[in-house]
Amino acid sequence: MINKKVADLLNDQINKEFYSAYLYLDMSNYFERRGLKGFANWYRIQAQEERDHAMLFYQYLQNNDCNVTLFVIGQPDKEFKCDMDVLRAGLTHEEYVTSLINNIYAVAYEVKDFRTMQFLDWFIKEQGEEETNARDMITKMELFGSDPKSLYMLNQELATRIYTAPSLVLD
Ligand code: MG
Repeated sequence: MINKKVADLLNDQINKEFYSAYLYLDMSNYFERRGLKGFANWYRIQAQEERDHAMLFYQYLQNNDCNVTLFVIGQPDKEFKCDMDVLRAGLTHEEYVTSLINNIYAVAYEVKDFRTMQFLDWFIKEQGEEETNARDMITKMELFGSDPKSLYMLNQELATRIYTAPSLVLD
């Protein structure tokens, strides 16, 4: 049986990941309205990845015979005044999610829940990648965002992102 405190945090994380999906969908929506469909595509796929994350926590709990409680998903309420606002909000959000995952890991470590630690290893690595992606996006925008031709090229590049299922598969 998984420790109650760990199980509660894992259950909360389902909600946090669905909120992430919602937030990225809102970012996609922003870029759709801006006419930057490549950016919109990139964030829509990001939203899809976050739903996958939520489902991994959901399934992990079920596989370990824990009750799952689904809570209300918060409304994304950030107001984006420019493209850079979106990109910076993305990085801030990923840093927050990293802190959440690290906290669950720390609690699992405390109670010697090695199974959950092993499950979370994938997410620890994933968060490193998410933060790198968010930082790369900001760097690219800083370099090229103010030039319309370069922004067009960047938009084209982001349009090529395709969805791939997470490499973590639970039985
Ligand atoms: Mg996530």
